[in-house]
Amino acid sequence: MHLKKQVILAPHTYFKLGGPADYFVEVKTRQELIDAVLYAQNHSLPYFVLGGGSNILVTDKGYRGLVIKNQTQSLSLSQTGATAASGVPINRLITYTINHSLAGLEDFLGLPGTVGGAIYNNSHHLGDLIGNHVSEVELLTQSGEVKIVPAQDLNFLYDYSRLHVSKEVLLSATFKLVKGNKEELMIKSQQAVQRRAKTQPLGNPSSGCIFKNITLSQAKQINTPNHTLSAGYLIDSSGLKGTRVGGAVVSTIHANFIINDGTAKSQDVLDLIEIIKVKIKKTYGVDLIEEVFLIGEK
Ligand SMILES: Cc1cc2nc3c(=O)[nH]c(=O)nc-3n(C[C@H](O)[C@H](O)[C@H](O)COP(=O)(O)OP(=O)(O)OC[C@H]3O[C@@H](n4cnc5c(N)ncnc54)[C@H](O)[C@@H]3O)c2cc1C
Repeated sequence: MHLKKQVILAPHTYFKLGGPADYFVEVKTRQELIDAVLYAQNHSLPYFVLGGGSNILVTDKGYRGLVIKNQTQSLSLSQTGATAASGVPINRLITYTINHSLAGLEDFLGLPGTVGGAIYNNSHHLGDLIGNHVSEVELLTQSGEVKIVPAQDLNFLYDYSRLHVSKEVLLSATFKLVKGNKEELMIKSQQAVQRRAKTQPLGNPSSGCIFKNITLSQAKQINTPNHTLSAGYLIDSSGLKGTRVGGAVVSTIHANFIINDGTAKSQDVLDLIEIIKVKIKKTYGVDLIEEVFLIGEK
């Protein structure tokens, strides 16, 4: 295993922010991923599995422990659809399934990150959840055991899977897909990409939506238009678009995105998050909850 020391994490994140990891290793096979996790466990070293880095904010001080950058790449057809290693970029999986005329994942095209990150947080798009398309997964448990677990045991909810609490590492996932028409799937997937390009500030570093959407009961209580659950609506209607701390700015295109203008520190983003939370609490009485995961020493 080729352990590197003091590796700056910013280039490994979509936000392009964050200080050094004490130790860093890139893994390219399932066995390398298992070995890296077991190494950390055996040395009582805190560890963190990094996928595409599209849903994390790494602190300026960085991470005290081992960051395992997951670049496992195996991808194959299975009885129910397709099986992907956890390090496979989700877009590579989607393109692969479309090329094999398999339907189910096409609306997710354009979602950044890996299969591991998507399942960890049950990534969503337009009301659909990635977990709806999973049949089973292969996990490495905290005791170093490899287990096959059916999707219903992952306790998928909006922005949640059991991996949040179990700290199991996803090794691979099998997706249940149905036969589709390749040309139609390509059109649908391109429409999804275009929708993103129109509604998201894709030219700037960010981590996508900073906050989770609100619940239906909150939306009813504050009477949002058509009971929208959009955290972006609350931020926009509070006049926060364009609010800036240092190099961190509330996007003027999508109010639930904070963008790094190229000069931001992680602390700028954290301070801006706090300003938004205070304002939304004051205006709507709602406690916004971060969707992005904060990693590293505070
Ligand atoms: C422009 C943009 C648009 C976005 N749009 C959406 C969207 O439409 N819907 C949505 O839900 N999200 C969206 N996101 C957020 C993000 O892309 C997703 O949450 C994505 O699934 C994260 O995957 P990742 O591989 O980058 O995870 P990372 O950011 O690398 O990691 C996120 C978490 O997953 C854990 N993790 C990663 N791999 C594993 C593994 N193998 N085993 C266990 N834990 C693991 C990490 O430890 C970490 O806690 C967007 C982000 C950006 C930048």
